[in-house]
Amino acid sequence: MYNEASLNALLNREGSEENNSMNASSRSSESVSLGLNTYHDIIKAPAIDPLTGLCSKEQFFLLAREFDKRHPLEGVDAIVLNYNKFHLINELYGRKFGDKVLCAIADCVSETAKEHGGIACRYDADKFYMYIKHQKDYDFLVHQVSDRLAHMMKTPDIRVRIGIYPDLFKDATLEQRFDRAIQACNSITKGHATSYEIYDSKMHEKEMFEARLLDSIGSAFAENQFSLAFQPKYNVHGSMPRLTSAEVLIRWKHPEFGLVKPDFFIPLFEENGIIRQLDRYVWREAAAQIRRWKDELGYSIPVSVNVSRVDIFDPDIIDYLKQIITDYGISASDLHLEITETAYTDNVEQIVSVVKELQKEGFMVEMDDFGKGYSSINMLTTLPLDALKLDIGFIKDIAENNKGKNLLGCILEIAKLLNLTVIAEGVENSKQYFLLKNAGCDVIQGYYFSKPLASSEFRNLLVTEG
Ligand code: C2E
Ligand code: MG
Ligand code: MG
Repeated sequence: MYNEASLNALLNREGSEENNSMNASSRSSESVSLGLNTYHDIIKAPAIDPLTGLCSKEQFFLLAREFDKRHPLEGVDAIVLNYNKFHLINELYGRKFGDKVLCAIADCVSETAKEHGGIACRYDADKFYMYIKHQKDYDFLVHQVSDRLAHMMKTPDIRVRIGIYPDLFKDATLEQRFDRAIQACNSITKGHATSYEIYDSKMHEKEMFEARLLDSIGSAFAENQFSLAFQPKYNVHGSMPRLTSAEVLIRWKHPEFGLVKPDFFIPLFEENGIIRQLDRYVWREAAAQIRRWKDELGYSIPVSVNVSRVDIFDPDIIDYLKQIITDYGISASDLHLEITETAYTDNVEQIVSVVKELQKEGFMVEMDDFGKGYSSINMLTTLPLDALKLDIGFIKDIAENNKGKNLLGCILEIAKLLNLTVIAEGVENSKQYFLLKNAGCDVIQGYYFSKPLASSEFRNLLVTEG
């Protein structure tokens, strides 16, 4: 636990020039002037992160706020630091070793923060926050934390990512500054040249655009701006491809911004908890559409809906899906569920129990985007699954190099052993099509056959090919 002395030492440590020149007695008199409420707030908050011994995130924010109050003129940078694919360390070397690595990084981050007159905490998992005096560049931090990791193991795929919100004028709230540092951090994706990124005007524009999208959600539902597109999936066994199902994809026609891509708004909705409402809407609309086709044509084919990783944590998900089935008088086998691969790697226990339950209720579950994330072959053998959907990126690779072709062969063999249907998505040309068909892939979806279609267009396809 922090006592008042250590608290004040931290707040005053290497503060502004003015504070640096303070003598011991003026420091202690400033310590005493720490407001009673602040002191109690800080003491009441959980003190440390039990794994690393760094101060807790609650303490961190209280201390940072207090620092701002005391040094309003000093430029301080908000920094977010994490590692891409840190979970690989746990998977490859075990959780205990992963914890050891986190402690070593924590030490490094904390020493660096101290050297630069600031504080650090572990926010969660492998995400660290720092609040330090403004720096001109951050190469030194990249080197320090990368070296610390390299010292412990050789896994070249794991890279540090640092996002910075430099604030010389403290014109945003503390939370906003860290949110912006997160945005800068998230902008560092695969192939990015540098390991740190500073929040800039482009990111600010994106933030503003996102805020306006979030603002318009209420009217989007009320004015039916969302619609469903259906992309056909073809079974390719036999001499002629056979229409076998469709994937439902959301479309948002925004009155001001035009067609907004799901790749843009889905992650935003996931972050803001709106995805639950959107997915429930899509599942219900899809079920209603199946009902209409059954009534009008006397038949339908199964359609798959996307299930966000966030939905997996919804305790009502199973009841809700069962209710939809009942409400529209369709069966669970009419609605397939696509769950992205990263949902499986994010939280194995939770997903295994939810998926097992869904399968018990008769839903078919497809692992979406297989090959994009890092699920191991070993994982496949233990997960409850009915189908594997190979990711677009993987499909591009197989047509272009032998390594990809060999890997496809292995995956198809394993899938057969596990009794899994293999679906390839993003198939755009005949080269890819024949390669996949000849290798034994079961179902193909992609522009080679058709783009996602409006429901009326898909109905025509059902009439002619269904
Ligand atoms: P996904 O589920 O992997 O869907 C496949 C995406 O690939 C779709 O993009 C589809 O239009 C696109 N695609 C299909 N064939 C081809 C092809 O041959 N070439 C290329 N280049 N692209 C092809 P879309 O519709 O933009 O959706 C993007 C992602 O947004 C989806 O990826 C899914 O993760 C998410 N998404 C879409 N609708 C929903 C939804 O209702 N709920 C949730 N949670 N996510 C959704
Ligand atoms: Mg999908
Ligand atoms: Mg996919």
